[in-house]
Amino acid sequence: MSEDCIFCKIARKEIPTEFIYEDNLVVAFNDINPQAPVHVIIIPKEHHDSILTVPAGDDIISHLHLVANRIALKTGIAKTGFRLVNNCGKDGNQTVPHLHYHLLGGRPLLWPPG
Ligand code: AMP
Ligand code: ZN
Repeated sequence: MSEDCIFCKIARKEIPTEFIYEDNLVVAFNDINPQAPVHVIIIPKEHHDSILTVPAGDDIISHLHLVANRIALKTGIAKTGFRLVNNCGKDGNQTVPHLHYHLLGGRPLLWPPG
């Protein structure tokens, strides 16, 4: 847990946010600045600065991916496809230093990204 971290505050329900999914380990909510018709942020409740700081043997990454699958099925984007994105560090354009995945879908997504 990190006192000043915005995603920790969301996970602790200190910033009122509608969760589209919650279990004991993760929460998911709509991105405040959506880049696609479906744009969900999926975070662990436990603070990790980025994917780089998750210890070996911690199964939170596989759990986040399985939750992404579940949300993709629930929102319907699994039918046509989607993108699961993790931005890491400065060049990865990570702006919130709390591990998170973006689940994007509902329109054709371009490749390569900018
Ligand atoms: P990243 O650039 O990968 O660190 O992504 C951070 C994402 O969090 C951005 O897409 C922001 O729009 C999103 N975001 C930041 N604050 C909030 C918030 N309070 N509620 C929902 N999404 C947020
Ligand atoms: Zn945090």
